Amino acid sequence: MIPVNQPIIGRREKELLAQCIESGWISSDGPFVAEFERKFSDYIGTKHGVTVCNGTAALETALFAAGIGKGDEVIMPAFTIISCALAAIRLGAIPVLVDAEAETWNMDVSQIESRLTPKTKAIMPVHIYGHPVDMDPLLDIAKKRNLVVVEDAAEAHGAEYKGRKCGALGHISAWSFYANKIITTGEGGMVLTSDSKMAKRAESYRNLCFRPEKRFYHTELGYNFRLTNLQAAVGIAQMERIDEFIQIKRRLGEYYRKSLLKFNGIKTQTEKSWAKMVYWMYCIELGKGFGLKAKDVMDGLAKKGIATRPFFIGLHQQPALHKLGLFKKERYPVTERISRQGLYLPSGLALTEKEIDQVISALELILKQKVN
Ligand SMILES: *Cc1c(COP(=O)(O)O)cnc(C)c1O
Repeated sequence: MIPVNQPIIGRREKELLAQCIESGWISSDGPFVAEFERKFSDYIGTKHGVTVCNGTAALETALFAAGIGKGDEVIMPAFTIISCALAAIRLGAIPVLVDAEAETWNMDVSQIESRLTPKTKAIMPVHIYGHPVDMDPLLDIAKKRNLVVVEDAAEAHGAEYKGRKCGALGHISAWSFYANKIITTGEGGMVLTSDSKMAKRAESYRNLCFRPEKRFYHTELGYNFRLTNLQAAVGIAQMERIDEFIQIKRRLGEYYRKSLLKFNGIKTQTEKSWAKMVYWMYCIELGKGFGLKAKDVMDGLAKKGIATRPFFIGLHQQPALHKLGLFKKERYPVTERISRQGLYLPSGLALTEKEIDQVISALELILKQKVN
C-alpha cells in the first residue's frame, strides 16, 4: 500500500517529547511553545508568531486579529478548503468568491477588482497546493483600497514569491501543522505577522480574551485555541529539518512532473517564473485527452494499493453554505472543472522514487485496461 501521505518523524521528536514528559510541561504553559513560535516566525520572516491548535483556528484568529467582524466582506478563492469561509462566517463576516485560474489553480487575481464593494475589508489569498498566488497585483489593490491581506499559507511552508517567502507577503498569515503539511505537530497551527497590535489580538483570541491587566474579566469573546508544549516540541524538531523536507518535496515533485510527461491529457500545476513552489501535494488534472474520469482513475489506483485524494469542491457548491444564503446561483467554471477532474497522488515526505515509478506503471496499466 502506498499511502497518500506519510510524515517523517524521527529521534529528535521523541527526545524533545520525552523532555516534556519528564519535566511535566505538557499543556500550553511550557517553554517549547514560545521557542517554536520564534523559530517558525524567524524562518518565514515575520516579527511575531502565535501558535494555535490547528490551521482552521489560525485563519479565524488571523481575521479576528486583523479586525474583521460583522458585515465585513472578505474576498477569497472559490477553490479552497471550507476553513477559509468558516473563519469569516464565525466572525459575522461575509465570504466573497473569485474563480481559480487555469494554470496554477490559485485565485484569479484579475477578478478581485470586480468583487470589491464598500464593505470589502480583506483579501484572503490561498497558496494552493504549495504554489504562490500572484501577489503583486493583489497587494496593489489592497494598498489602494486600504484592505488587509490575510494569507492562507497552510500548504506553502517555504514557498516563495519573487524571492520572498509566502506568509510574510501580506499583513498576517495562517498556517497549519496537520500531519500532511510540510512540517507537522500532529494537529497545530500558527498566525504570523509583523504587526505588534495584530499579534496581541491573536494572542488574546486564542486564550479566551483574558485581559493582561485584569484576569477573568472579558470585554471580547475568544476561544481556547492553545497549542500544547508537547505539540510545540514536535514542531521544534521538525523545524530542524524544514529545509531538507522542502528539498524532498521539490525533488519528488520534479520527478513526478517528468514521469508524467509521457501521458496525453494530464495537466499539472506549472511553476511560474516568479515562483518557488513546494509541491505540498502532487496534483494532476485529467483533460479530455486522457480518456478516463478522475473518479475511475482513483478507483483503479486504489485497487492497486495506491491511495489518492480528490480536489477541493468549490465553496459555492457547499450545501452547508447555501443554507446560510451564500453563493446560491454563483458559478465558477474553472473551480468546477478542476474539482471534477483533479486528484492528488501519493505525496508524503517518506515517498520514494521507486514508489513514484509504481504509481506511473499503475496509471499506464489502468489506461491500457480501458482501451482493451
Ligand atoms: C490544511 C489546510 C487548512 C486547515 O488546517 P487544519 O490544521 O487542518 O485545520 C486551511 N487551509 C488550507 C489551504 C489547508 O490546506
